[in-house]
Amino acid sequence: MSLNTKKLAKNAWRVTKDRHLTCLRIRVPGGHFPAKFFPILQEIADRFGNGSVHLTTRQGFEIPGIALEATAEVNSLIAPLIRELEVDQGVEVPAPEEGYPAAGTRNVVACIGNRVCPQAVFDTTRLAYDIEKTIYPNNPHVKIAVTGCANDCVKVHLHDIGIIGQVEPIYDPSRCIGCRACVKNCRQVSTGALRFHNFKVQRDSDRCLGCGECVLKCPTGAWGRGDQYFRVVIMGRTGKKNPRLAAPFLEWADRETVLKICRNLYDYIDRHIDRTLAKEHVGYIVDRTGYPVFRDEVLKDVVLSPRAKVAKFLNPSGYLYDHGVLCSQPYPSDG
Ligand code: SF4
Ligand code: SF4
Ligand code: SF4
Repeated sequence: MSLNTKKLAKNAWRVTKDRHLTCLRIRVPGGHFPAKFFPILQEIADRFGNGSVHLTTRQGFEIPGIALEATAEVNSLIAPLIRELEVDQGVEVPAPEEGYPAAGTRNVVACIGNRVCPQAVFDTTRLAYDIEKTIYPNNPHVKIAVTGCANDCVKVHLHDIGIIGQVEPIYDPSRCIGCRACVKNCRQVSTGALRFHNFKVQRDSDRCLGCGECVLKCPTGAWGRGDQYFRVVIMGRTGKKNPRLAAPFLEWADRETVLKICRNLYDYIDRHIDRTLAKEHVGYIVDRTGYPVFRDEVLKDVVLSPRAKVAKFLNPSGYLYDHGVLCSQPYPSDG
């Protein structure tokens, strides 16, 4: 890669299969894109690109087919949206008219959250902005996603850090008519944390995952939404070598804890990354250092809420190339 191309990649431009062309990448933290900026995307695609805009899996845009010589002019065209979506949210971008200052840390994605979805327990886009402010600009390859409830529509379990909204359900027995709709619903769609006993509903707080279904189901408002918390899952990833689902790390964490973990993650990466590699995904760093080192470093100076729980160990899924899991046909019978 030439020096010039390296600079472009840092500037968030994509290397493409045509060495004379590049592809503009636009970050949209939290996935809400102000419609007034669409004309800018159209102008860039029509004047400088091939007339198309690609919607990325990370809720951003890519505009392909742009000549390398045009990048400075295009950077100046996207300055207004960098100002509104990054600078106005508190992100330090030294010179918005020169484009994005880093590419490694990917756009923070979020489900649509409580601006629209009745299941959501918080404003996912607001948290995505606060995370963006905490971690960007930065070069390590890190993927973070935020989802408004345990349904996980945004697939946080495929991310290095996945954040899932939790709510503490509060029960008011004086409003309960004993219909048991909440008990039945929790058993059917969630973890079966409720039971009806002595004409009242009892909640097993160890089983409750804070999905808020009971609040939505109760016809009398006997369940209400209490404090807001977050479940954090880690080390999910895609990729060639060993894709796997994220494993639970923290439950009932408060907002400050989530932001501090995101900040500490970069110090952990800086201390332990293998600099002989072109880039090392954080999940593989955790594989090398072991979970206790990761846990202690990302929780450094974190004051956990009394309600918080931390995983004793990680139990990630994944490919086991060395363990003979896959075999050629004829495969042996189960017996
Ligand atoms: S994850 Fe929950 S809050 Fe987010 S869109 Fe899906 S159902 Fe709604
Ligand atoms: S749904 Fe509401 S009213 Fe019915 S048992 Fe549950 S708390 Fe009581
Ligand atoms: S928040 Fe979800 S898991 Fe907890 S009691 Fe209510 S329905 Fe069950």
